[in-house]
Amino acid sequence: MGQLDTREKLAILADAAKYDASCASSGTTKRSSRDGKGIGSTEGMGICHAYAPDGRCISLLKILLTNSCIFDCHYCINRKSSNVRRARFTADEVVKLTLAFYRRNYIEGLFLSSGIIRSPDYTMEQIVEVARSLREDHQFRGYIHLKTIPDADPELIRMAGVHADRLSINVELPTESGLKRLAPEKSEVRIAGAMRALRTSIEDGADARKRYRSAPRFAPAGQSTQMIVGADSANDTAIIGRASGLYDRFNLRRVYYSAFSPIPDASAVLPLKRPPLMREHRLYQSDWMMRFYGFKAEEVAAAADAEGMLPLDTDPKLAWALRFRDMFPVDVNRAPKEALLRVPGLGTKAVKAILAARRLHPLTLADVGRLTASVAKVRPFLVASDWRPVALADRADPLPVKVEKQLELFG
Ligand code: SF4
Repeated sequence: MGQLDTREKLAILADAAKYDASCASSGTTKRSSRDGKGIGSTEGMGICHAYAPDGRCISLLKILLTNSCIFDCHYCINRKSSNVRRARFTADEVVKLTLAFYRRNYIEGLFLSSGIIRSPDYTMEQIVEVARSLREDHQFRGYIHLKTIPDADPELIRMAGVHADRLSINVELPTESGLKRLAPEKSEVRIAGAMRALRTSIEDGADARKRYRSAPRFAPAGQSTQMIVGADSANDTAIIGRASGLYDRFNLRRVYYSAFSPIPDASAVLPLKRPPLMREHRLYQSDWMMRFYGFKAEEVAAAADAEGMLPLDTDPKLAWALRFRDMFPVDVNRAPKEALLRVPGLGTKAVKAILAARRLHPLTLADVGRLTASVAKVRPFLVASDWRPVALADRADPLPVKVEKQLELFG
């Protein structure tokens, strides 16, 4: 391990970090100008894109401190028994790399995670040291997202929050039984305890900032988590319910869903095949329904089939509308915001624009068309001043269902 140069370590530790979906960029083809021809490269190791709290898309250096680990989680390529090449950065190396990338304008921040070396406390100390040094020694003002280790001393997690914009703790699997089976060294109770403590610290920090402008910030971009989908037998209904509970209990900013991907030398307890990538996409859509369209977890789950799985060929918002046809059509000129948000094809921006426009004059279907991405999609669900569809409950013809192709993230 000691003989690896920085570039080799970066190649190993950026590749190992790609399985964390908490900040992910779209896949693309590999192009490089290292042969002296052309300019630019798509092989910028470790650089991914994520969304900042204000909605901007930012580039982050996304790496692990080390891919060595004393734990043996079955689904993880970095587990103790995995036969992968190992590497480890020192805290100082990560600081230097981050600053070098930042000065060249390649990145706007750092996403740092790690396997567990020696002990959770020792690992967390190293992670905190990276953030501390960036902030205090180098006055780094960029974005920092740190993965925290639930078993680490709460004081270390508190120090992480003082320096980082966002902290995350992975719940890993949707059910406690799945966690026990696939990550026996982890504990649902300890993970929940750490997330609860983070919530308290984040809320206390925000309160203190309201009262005293000089109070230190604490993880102002909140906390997030990641769940692996398809490694255990949890169905979509269980995953949606779990995500909803996490949002309520810990006030999370985001739950990320990561389709389990088979790893080399996989443990025999894992499925041989990855779940369809579309499943991950449908879960993100159902998450969006809960966070932005006012659906409860039970309502989203009502769009699932008898096995508790969301349809892969239909957006869950459309599947829900087709199951509850008597709720439609809604009058675009009279319906409350909550009812408009449930119309398939209407997003939050379109609903806001409709509410503003209808104050000025009754809206026709053409007006709605100008305010939405696709009038064909919303037409069966809306009444406008010059338009009334055949009631959905009376329609004999099925609505057109478009199956989108989910792109590979790590093709
Ligand atoms: S603790 Fe994290 S890095 Fe270690 S094996 Fe488990 S998931 Fe992988």
